Amino acid sequence: MLSNRELFLRNTAQTSDSPRLIEIVKAEGTYLYGPEGQKYLDLVSGFNVSNIGHRHPKVVEAIREQLDKYLHVTVYGEFVQAPQVQFATALLEKLPPSFGSVYLTNSGAEAVEGAMKVAKKYTGRRQIIGVTKAYHGSTQGALSLIGNPEYHKAYAPLLPEVGFIDFNNKAYLASITTETAAVIVETVQGEAGVRVPDKSYMQALRARCTETGTLLIFDEIQTGFGRTGRMFAFEHFDVVPDILLLAKGIGGGMPLGAFVAPKEIMDVIKTNPMLGHITTFGGHPVSCAAALASLRVIEDEKLLDQVADKAEFFRQELRHPKIKEIRGLGLMMCIQVESFDQVYRVSKYCAEHGVMIDWYLHCETALRIAPPLTISMEEIKAACQIIRAALDQMTMES
Ligand code: PLP
Repeated sequence: MLSNRELFLRNTAQTSDSPRLIEIVKAEGTYLYGPEGQKYLDLVSGFNVSNIGHRHPKVVEAIREQLDKYLHVTVYGEFVQAPQVQFATALLEKLPPSFGSVYLTNSGAEAVEGAMKVAKKYTGRRQIIGVTKAYHGSTQGALSLIGNPEYHKAYAPLLPEVGFIDFNNKAYLASITTETAAVIVETVQGEAGVRVPDKSYMQALRARCTETGTLLIFDEIQTGFGRTGRMFAFEHFDVVPDILLLAKGIGGGMPLGAFVAPKEIMDVIKTNPMLGHITTFGGHPVSCAAALASLRVIEDEKLLDQVADKAEFFRQELRHPKIKEIRGLGLMMCIQVESFDQVYRVSKYCAEHGVMIDWYLHCETALRIAPPLTISMEEIKAACQIIRAALDQMTMES
């Protein structure tokens, strides 16, 4: 009989020639478990999803309760489903009052697609501006905004009338004009290798969008739901976007995304044509029940209050001559080393010694540190010890 690894390679679509092939049979709290008794401390959180840890009991309970009521009943936007309504209401309570309407999706890329459509229809303009080295998802619209020409070449033609500006560089703001429907920016760039913008840049970007009547869209799909130590990363910069994109961490481990906007903006999809943006599974009731439970866990366990201290402890424990820089905001961090070879060897060593670590799409020379926010100080100490040992071993080999 073929093993799961063999069946994985044979029967499931592959996204690279070198999948990591780590098999997981269980995940609980901050740990992942393999079939031969391996135990990994998770510093990746399923790519910024498991912000409250894996299978949080409150989330599992909410899922069970919803399973006993109903699963899918109709397309998004038709029946009144309490989990959707309750989650949307709780989400809006966390946001500035300008936000008045939540559209629930299955994924981050879908939130990006919906927001682009709303922005075009609301403004009557066509141009969308993205940012160099951005990542917003793999659907064709979101891919049009990926700030990496390699991906454009491979899948062209993509969306027309897309422009790019450099991140955190005020010199580019003049290219946002009265022709621009929207600018889409990650509040902290993730796949670019965790780039934190200056507050003055974010405020100048906001001012330029307001001046030109351009909608400012913040992609908080990686930064959202507490990852940076605030519920939403834009709170660090004292700016409020017009449209907010969420996914990954909001579902407590279940698939869910959202774009959130003022009601006046969101209402453009209702008419002319009606049903201008629809989805069958978006806002699945089980995902929404999990999302609401996850939001309550963040509040009840006061997770946001712990993020800065935990991030600081990582920084203290990660002092090593091979580390060129540690970048980050809260528990969205990266360790800059010299080469992909180093990143690969450190990740491999860490996995062999029980720590799961990864890298970034547009920055292969940096290691990804994005643990569940529930990680303990002891776990941080233990993880950093292994990362330092991996770096030491590299020093000995070179
Ligand atoms: N936006 C950002 C910043 C992301 O990091 C991602 C995924 O990594 C996406 C959008 C796309 O989300 P999804 O993979 O759920 O489509």
